Amino acid sequence: QEDQFKKVLSHAKEYGYVFQSSEIYDGLSAVYDYAQNGVELKKNIREYWWKAMVQMHENIVGIDASILMHPTTWKASGHVDAFNDPLIDNKDSKKRYRADVLVEDYCAKIEAKIDKEVAKAEKRFGEAFNKEEFVSTNPRVLGYHEKIKSILTRMAKSLENEDLADVKALIEELEIADPLTGSKNWTDVKQFNLMFGTQIGASAENSMQVYLRPETAQGIFVNFLNVQKTGRMKIPFGIAQTGKAFRNEIVARQFIFRMREFEQMEMQFFVKPGTQKEWYEKWKETRMRWHLSLGMGAENYRFHDHEKLAHYADAASDIEFKFPFGFKELEGIHSRTDFDLKAHEEFSGKKLQYFDHEENKSYVPYVVETSIGLDRMFLAVFSRALQEEELDNNTTRTVLKLPAVLAPYKAAILPLVKKDGLPEIAREIMDDLKWDFNVFYDEKDAVGKRYRRQDAAGTPFCITVDHETLTDHSVTVRDRDTMEQKRVAISELKELIRAAVDM
Ligand code: ATP
Repeated sequence: QEDQFKKVLSHAKEYGYVFQSSEIYDGLSAVYDYAQNGVELKKNIREYWWKAMVQMHENIVGIDASILMHPTTWKASGHVDAFNDPLIDNKDSKKRYRADVLVEDYCAKIEAKIDKEVAKAEKRFGEAFNKEEFVSTNPRVLGYHEKIKSILTRMAKSLENEDLADVKALIEELEIADPLTGSKNWTDVKQFNLMFGTQIGASAENSMQVYLRPETAQGIFVNFLNVQKTGRMKIPFGIAQTGKAFRNEIVARQFIFRMREFEQMEMQFFVKPGTQKEWYEKWKETRMRWHLSLGMGAENYRFHDHEKLAHYADAASDIEFKFPFGFKELEGIHSRTDFDLKAHEEFSGKKLQYFDHEENKSYVPYVVETSIGLDRMFLAVFSRALQEEELDNNTTRTVLKLPAVLAPYKAAILPLVKKDGLPEIAREIMDDLKWDFNVFYDEKDAVGKRYRRQDAAGTPFCITVDHETLTDHSVTVRDRDTMEQKRVAISELKELIRAAVDM
C-alpha cells in the first residue's frame, strides 16, 4: 500500500500533474501546485461535477462568492468558537500531533489485530470458515471490539465536554508513543483554531480582522435570499459553488488528501422543514450514482453514517473511497437543519425567510448539503487509474487509466515518421480536432515509445498517420486500455472520440 502511494506521488510529478508548492525553496508543507496535465484533469473533474449538479438540474443554480467575507459570518457559523483541532506536542521530539488522530491510529492498530485473528482462523478452518459468525463469537475479537468502542466513546465524550485533560489522560493510559521517535513524554492538549486570519485596511486603528474562508458553504447561505428572489427560485432548490477554502491543518505526508489550501465543490439544497430526511436520502443516492458513473469500481466506495453529529446536523454520512492508504472520507452529505440560516438571521438582524405560496406562510428553509473536495477527488481518480500491467512479452507498462471524460488530452496525434508529408497531414488533423477536444501533437522518438508516454500520461487514444494515410485518408487509432489498433477514416475521428468522452 505504501509502495503504491509512493508511486502515485512520483508519477504525479514526473508526468506533470502535481508539483510541490515553491519547490525551489524546499516547498511549503501541505500546499501543492497543479501542473500542465493536473490543471486539465482538475478542470475536467470540476466540470463533470458542475454539469451533473447545475446543468442537469433545473432547480439548481451556481454562484461564485468571495474568499474574504464579513468576519461576523464566522461568528454566526460557529467557526470562531468551535472550528478547532485538539493538539498535543511531544516534549522530546518537539513534534506536534492531533490528539484525536493519535488515538484513532491506536484503534486502527487494534483493528489490524482483528484482521490477523480472522486470517489465522480462516486458514485453520478452510472451507467451513464463517467470518460473520467468527467475528461475533470469538472472545478475543469481541474483546478487541469492546476496547476500540470504549476508547472512541471516551475520546468523543471528552472532546464534546472540552475535557482536554482527559484526552491527555487517555493518551497516557494507552501508552501511546510518538510515531516517529517512540517517546511518551507529552504536553497538555490544547485547542487550536483552523482558520487563517488576516487584516483588511492599512492603518492600525482602521484594520479589521478577517479570515480566509474555511468552507465555501457560508458564501451560499449569506446569498440565499438574493439568489432566491432574483432567480425566482421555488423550494426545493439548490445553490452550487466551487472554490478555494483554507484550513491550517496539522498534517504530515498525506499529499493532496489533506491540504492547507484546497478546493471544495458544494451544493446547498433548501427544502421545506420536515422534508429534510427524504432529501438527505435522495442526495446520498444521487451523489453515489455520480461517483459510480465514472466506472472506478463499486467495491471502492462505501457510506459511513455518522453517529456523533456536528452541532448543526440532524443526519450526516460520508462517501468513503479506497485510497492507497485505505478507506477515507471523500465527500460529506449533511442534513444541516435551519442552523446556518437562523444563525445568520440572528447575527445580521435580517430576515432570511422564504414565502411559500402553496402553504401561504413564511419559514426558514432546512438545508441538505453535499460537499466534496476537488483535490481529494483528483487523488481518488489519479490513484485508482495508475496501474502497472504485465504484458505478454514479459515486459510491464505503466498506464494511467483515467476515465476518458476526465483525461487531460483526449487524443495524441503522431506522424509515423518526420518526413514524406506525414507531419503536415498530422497537423491538419490536429487543427481540425482541436476545436472540439484537447489534443496533443508528438513527433519525437519511435512510435512505440510515444505510445508508452501517452499511456503513462493517461491519453485515451493515439492517432497515427502513416504512408497509407496519403492514399486512403485513414489513420491507425490505438486504444490506451486494450492497446488494440484499428483503421479509421479521418472523417470519422470526431465521432469516435466524442462517443468515448461524452458524459
Ligand atoms: P476531514 O474529517 O477529512 O478533516 P471534514 O469532515 O472536516 O474532513 P468537511 O468540512 O465536511 O470535511 O469538508 C467537505 C469535504 O472537503 C471533505 O469531504 C473533503 O473532501 C474536503 N476537505 C476537507 N478538508 C480538506 C483538506 N484539508 N484538504 C483537502 N480536502 C479537504
